[in-house]
Amino acid sequence: MKRLVHPSVTREIVARYGFHFKKSLGQNFLIDWNILHQIVEAADLTQEDGVLEIGPGIGTLTQALAESAGKVVAIEKDDRLLPILRETLAEYPNVKIYHADVLETNLHELFQQHFDGKKTSVVANLPYYVTTPIIMKLLENHLPLHHIVVMVQKEVAERMTAEPGGKEYGALSVAVQYYTDPEVVCRVPKTVFIPQPQVDSIVIRLRVRSKPRVEVTDPDYFFRVVKASFAQRRKTLLNNLQHNLPNRPAKENLVDTLMSIGIDPGRRGETLSIQEFANMAEHLRTL
Ligand code: SAM
Repeated sequence: MKRLVHPSVTREIVARYGFHFKKSLGQNFLIDWNILHQIVEAADLTQEDGVLEIGPGIGTLTQALAESAGKVVAIEKDDRLLPILRETLAEYPNVKIYHADVLETNLHELFQQHFDGKKTSVVANLPYYVTTPIIMKLLENHLPLHHIVVMVQKEVAERMTAEPGGKEYGALSVAVQYYTDPEVVCRVPKTVFIPQPQVDSIVIRLRVRSKPRVEVTDPDYFFRVVKASFAQRRKTLLNNLQHNLPNRPAKENLVDTLMSIGIDPGRRGETLSIQEFANMAEHLRTL
């Protein structure tokens, strides 16, 4: 089978099917063997492993994954790509394509049906307009994932790996670092896609932790505290918590509680470590 990643092969297929790229679906297809190779290496697959791919496009990454893994399930939203995928992946019996929107797919059912007992990872060149909802769905669904290797917009990767104190640090950083250990695999210039996107990209690997980074009694409440703390970035912690927590604690109680655990209520959310968010959640939930 021809390497789909080769620019002339991709161009030929796109032209033969009269396929027009939809910006609204984040369609930027990879045409660089070196980056493809780095994604597959980072996915660290064996013939026993399962892979979920989101957005296979014309099947470029899917082809490489099918050659390294035991089973690949790919979910593609754009029905115009289905006939193309049937042709390009015809020689790979270990690939199953679903025509669906990943955000509306029951991933637990899909995992049970296809990956039961298999070490499984997500590997994808994600559509950028929905990167954060997709990552959050994968993490919050508590799927039995080994790791997530994804190409994302550079700024999103920077937010996922950000440490407290900077402007990139926010609710996404806390969520990703609560569930996983993130690391940058490689930086990717715009020039390796057709059509070229407007932004640079990063391939990031999120190793899913066996236990979250911090222990909390009620993870839902922990994330509410995190979201409330970042609700308005220029406001103080006190102000944000006062107006955005579901249990609406009284101002004096909030101040006393924060002071009692050594957190100045005048600080901003972006300065707090994940451990500090966890301490706050443990003490604020009973107010
Ligand atoms: N994997 C291919 C590659 O690397 O060349 C294509 C990647 S392209 C950046 C993103 C793909 O995701 C497109 O094929 C697009 O149609 C698909 N897509 C967009 N939104 C989606 C969604 N909500 N669910 C599933 N696939 C989606």
